[in-house]
Amino acid sequence: MNKDIFLTNNLRNKKEKFVPINEKKIGMYVCGPTVYDDPHIGNARPLVIFDILFKVLIHKYGKDSVNYVRNITDVDDKIIKSAQDNNTSISDLTKKIIKNFTDDCNFLNCENPSHQPRATDHVHLMIKMISDLIVKNFAYINNNHVYFQVNKFNDYGKLSNKKLEDLIAGSRVKISKNKKNPEDFVLWKPSINDEPFWDSPWGRGRPGWHLECSAMSKFFLGKEFDIHGGGIDLLFPHHENEIAQSRCVNDTEVFANYWVHNAFITISNEKMAKSQGNILKIKDYKDKINGQVLRLALMSAHYKQTLDWNDKLLNDCKNTIEKWYTVYLPPKTLSKISDDLLLTLYDDLNTPGYIANLHKLFDKANNGDDNDKKIFVLACNFIGILNESKIKWLDFKKKKSLISEKDILKKIELRNKSRENRDYKEADKIRDELLQKGVLIEDKDGKTSWKIK
Ligand SMILES: [Zn+2]
Repeated sequence: MNKDIFLTNNLRNKKEKFVPINEKKIGMYVCGPTVYDDPHIGNARPLVIFDILFKVLIHKYGKDSVNYVRNITDVDDKIIKSAQDNNTSISDLTKKIIKNFTDDCNFLNCENPSHQPRATDHVHLMIKMISDLIVKNFAYINNNHVYFQVNKFNDYGKLSNKKLEDLIAGSRVKISKNKKNPEDFVLWKPSINDEPFWDSPWGRGRPGWHLECSAMSKFFLGKEFDIHGGGIDLLFPHHENEIAQSRCVNDTEVFANYWVHNAFITISNEKMAKSQGNILKIKDYKDKINGQVLRLALMSAHYKQTLDWNDKLLNDCKNTIEKWYTVYLPPKTLSKISDDLLLTLYDDLNTPGYIANLHKLFDKANNGDDNDKKIFVLACNFIGILNESKIKWLDFKKKKSLISEKDILKKIELRNKSRENRDYKEADKIRDELLQKGVLIEDKDGKTSWKIK
């Protein structure tokens, strides 16, 4: 399509026209999962958002011209701790979580990136990068550790709009006695006991987390590439540190040209955190809800906006998909989607705008002919929904609701107890709660039955 793509570039804090370095070789790097625990719904957001960006880039430049790299962090302190806590080996743990992560990506109907490199396969590149940084005097060795010396890089803080002076003054990082300055960050650290290790000129150890993205993006995309993405929580210090390492070792003015970050997800307006006990794992939805519903919900807010995750959102998205399936016709030919329709996505991935257009296309299809229906389904397919046949969807719907059967029965029992205690207010509340989750209950002859609405 002849139109331009616009993205919010956090490097300059504004929406900018996307101009690739080379139209035939677009490079996009997105920070992937640290495989210590099963992915949660917050992890699902960048998976879907950058999948949409991948699709948009492919639409404009062609499949062979887009190189999307998403790494897998399979060595990290969190992994070591999680393996210990679960009494399992690191390799068994990472193998299991990588499998679950892949299942989750399929469940959310995300396309595979062009490459999914693992950190542990690229440690030799990281060792080389550290050696070069030491030679160039950007890094120093102390007590089997290697640190990057932040004050040697003048542009440090540019991405996150932080000033080095403020960082030093407000530094909450525990100051290690090995560091010259509190803001310096680790490139290499020694491994103790049975921690995983690699041999290096600085002793047996392992790389610091930030380094892997610098090393693997260089290997797959070159010293300078187009788009770097990830969650907003990675902007500082992770992305700031990636820029510092990469630009210093490569001696370049630029690392990635466009920095795109997705915002957080809150759970019923509360921050999702382990301490809040509200971490929602993607896999826990598999028995209750179709992946397309989750996907639509994840696209319902613009990627720069906080997305609030709640039962109403999921119920609305479920009803929408259900309604849309009423006009479903399998797309017969590989016809191309109309360019006009994609303008919303070209404009900084405006997914809510695209969904609003889908509602209009649905109305047209609902009152129109088979061709209108096919155009509608094609437009849905572009963002990864209505890809399953109607039969498959109905089949799923019959068996699945937003709540497991076990939980439904538990709720009914609670409701019956409330009724016995004449607490009808509570009983009604439980009934409404179940209805919100798509479960209709009926009382007949002293018995309560339920069905999926
Ligand atoms: Zn990264």
